[in-house]
Amino acid sequence: HSPPALRQVAVFGATGSIGASALDVIARHPDRYRAAVLAAGTQVQALLALCVAHRPDHAVIADAAGFAALRDGLRAAGLSTQAHAGPDALDQLAASDICDTVVAAIVGAAGLSSTLAAASAGKRILLANKESLVLAGELLMQRATAAGAEIIPIDSEHSAIFQCLRSRDASLDQAGVRRILLTASGGPFRGRSRAELEQVTPAQAVAHPKWSMGPKISVDSATLMNKGLEVIEAHHLFNVPGERIEVLVHPQSLVHSLVEFIDGSTLAQLGLPDMRTTLAVGLGWPQRIESGVAGLDLLTQGRLDFEAPDTDAFPCLRLAWQAMAAGGTAPAILNAANEVAVSAFLQGRIAFLNIPALVANALSTLPAGPADTLEGLLAADQRARQITQTAIDTH
Ligand code: NAD
Ligand code: MG
Repeated sequence: HSPPALRQVAVFGATGSIGASALDVIARHPDRYRAAVLAAGTQVQALLALCVAHRPDHAVIADAAGFAALRDGLRAAGLSTQAHAGPDALDQLAASDICDTVVAAIVGAAGLSSTLAAASAGKRILLANKESLVLAGELLMQRATAAGAEIIPIDSEHSAIFQCLRSRDASLDQAGVRRILLTASGGPFRGRSRAELEQVTPAQAVAHPKWSMGPKISVDSATLMNKGLEVIEAHHLFNVPGERIEVLVHPQSLVHSLVEFIDGSTLAQLGLPDMRTTLAVGLGWPQRIESGVAGLDLLTQGRLDFEAPDTDAFPCLRLAWQAMAAGGTAPAILNAANEVAVSAFLQGRIAFLNIPALVANALSTLPAGPADTLEGLLAADQRARQITQTAIDTH
């Protein structure tokens, strides 16, 4: 009986919220996992601190301006970690033999290229970056299948569905699945009317009641765009048509999602809202490994509530369904317009309700084209960014 091989993990988005959870789980199992590559966008000092703690072979700063500081900082710390800069370095390392597992935890469409590179190289991908599936879901799934890559969802809802399905390879019909129920916390503004959302501030929007996350996904949770992106994510990950996906608001965030089967049975996955659980599922699968997360004490929690989402107050959820139904480049347009709008909202340049208005504007202005080439998808992404930025600047 030989010990399991040491898995070499690349953590892209290492300085973020998911990155921290991934490194926490990896550090609990030094005999099984090693952070071989750490990558961040612009935060050189935070990346250096992680390199001191985890001693990776390679460190990447996506912003090329940070290269000298990273290289010199690694040297000053006495580390042999090699410094790299720029998005191409991410793609090359994702595809190289330096790692067998890639934690895709960059935020936004910026994560697509390295995720595609890892997929084409047949890696195990712990996919947190849902935007890459929204933008290029068909391409990403095709490349993963062709190269034998394993995509393990990290998003808590999709991890729940993944855990409830007996075999991720069987089609939903073979698995006897009738529908998928995605749960949503409802975010910090659950229960508010449209009028009550007019004056909400970025600080209120990022104060999520249940999850501690990066700023972009926190705003997405407040608008319910996050759930819309997750519907599209589930559609691609599990090859399930939109009609068979439902969204349920569940404020306690303990039931992470459910799968209903044709015999009337429904399976759910429950746990505390801590992403280390889903990262442990992704690292260990099909085995279970310690994550540092306690079990659920249902007696203390007391109750589980469910309600329907309010798509009048939170139109982003409806816009995402519409974009998925329109297909082609429409989800890429939705995602790009949303990224630009959320960034402007976080900078205090637009109001909260302008986010859905700007996304609707991009979707109605730009015709959806075919989604069969990466160039076409990236062109749609760029056009949606321009239209949305212009609408913000001239507003
Ligand atoms: P975050 O803002 O905390 O971290 C983002 C990370 O991406 C940082 O390390 C940053 O340096 C890096 N980054 C940003 N732009 C980059 C670029 N251009 N090139 C390379 N790296 C770049 O975000 P997060 O909350 O950790 O979320 C990361 C991803 O995981 C998002 O797609 C989010 O939707 C998804 N996700 C997060 C959670 C959560 O609990 N935080 C849950 C589900 C899904
Ligand atoms: Mg989620």
